[in-house]
Amino acid sequence: MNIIMLGAQGTGKGTVAGFISQETGWPQISTGEIFRKNISHQTQLGIEADKYISKGNLVPDEITVPMVKSRLLQPDAQEGFILDGFPRTLQQAEALDEMLSEMGKKVELVVNLETPREEIIDRMMTRRVCTNPNCKETYNTKLHPPKVEGICDKCGSPLKQREDDKDPKAIERRLEIYEEKTSPLIDFYKQKGILRTETVSIAINHLGKDVASEIVADINAK
Ligand code: AMP
Repeated sequence: MNIIMLGAQGTGKGTVAGFISQETGWPQISTGEIFRKNISHQTQLGIEADKYISKGNLVPDEITVPMVKSRLLQPDAQEGFILDGFPRTLQQAEALDEMLSEMGKKVELVVNLETPREEIIDRMMTRRVCTNPNCKETYNTKLHPPKVEGICDKCGSPLKQREDDKDPKAIERRLEIYEEKTSPLIDFYKQKGILRTETVSIAINHLGKDVASEIVADINAK
């Protein structure tokens, strides 16, 4: 099944996508993660993308769209995929429809996560990621802490805070961009009849892992 994750930063898209991927075997394709890998290896793409990412701005489509297309053509994405962080604009959504139709495919489910804004900012400040590029497990010092502070449960590597999560100005900028450019996608996919909106909030005790289990149960029931 071809799935897209929608939702502002810090709503738990990565957690939900990772869980669905584990349960189904479909790869989680995170554009932010691909960019961060390229930045850490100082590739040409990474150096260029970092100019935008460090300020909390979107990387231009000329870089992002071909990168996604070549990832979607890889053999592991042929049975299904979970796109996490793409599309982020209507133009990207249209580019995705176009590339999928060339491949004889379409988007089948869009999971839209909603979280109260105060919780989002808190989650972004308390998010930690594994520094091992082959692991990349995500933690939260409040909601989902590692067993040993600063160390990944899965692989034992040190955890760190993402650069763009350290800067409150970059966080605000990313949320502004989400409202302005990404939230119109909610209507775009609602009109196609494939949108599933879920609230992720500690206040109602409904977190990413709960949403993910519900979605996997529905996929398995089909
Ligand atoms: P994320 O890990 O999804 O929060 O992405 C981190 C950063 O990578 C974003 O703030 C953007 O600068 C960049 N990025 C990720 N996905 C996209 C995309 N689809 N289009 C443009 N920029 C992106």
